Amino acid sequence: MIATLLVSLSLAASQYAGMPVQVSCVPDDALAGYTYRADGMEYIQMRGKYCGALSGILGGTPRGLDYATHLYANGGVSSWAVLAFTHEATHALLQSNDEGRVECYAVHHTRLMMSLLGVPVWAARILQRDAMQQHLYNFAPGSPYRTVC
Ligand SMILES: [Zn+2]
Repeated sequence: MIATLLVSLSLAASQYAGMPVQVSCVPDDALAGYTYRADGMEYIQMRGKYCGALSGILGGTPRGLDYATHLYANGGVSSWAVLAFTHEATHALLQSNDEGRVECYAVHHTRLMMSLLGVPVWAARILQRDAMQQHLYNFAPGSPYRTVC
């Protein structure tokens, strides 16, 4: 299951960034995710908790209420994981370490990332909306991640 998840995430991140991206899941720590580049390749390390949330999204039943309930029953972790994953892939896309700029782009493109992962359009839209709310909730004004775009 984890191998399938990593292939799906790596393919979607590569399509999104327009370059090879390899995704792995790492033990939980303070960071949601981390991106680094080496040998012309981008590597994304996602916190295990968020890999689990992304796995839940991809394994979700694409049926209205059940799917939405799953998202919200998860206390926002799913949409936060979606935003964090999109944020990390955006580092690769923009080749930028400017957290505010990267977050600005990411917060508007979670829906695209979800579409690349095969999430139904209506569910991707819910995640997009919720990710924007998570952004405002998690990043106070003055945070280097808080976008003003
Ligand atoms: Zn970042």
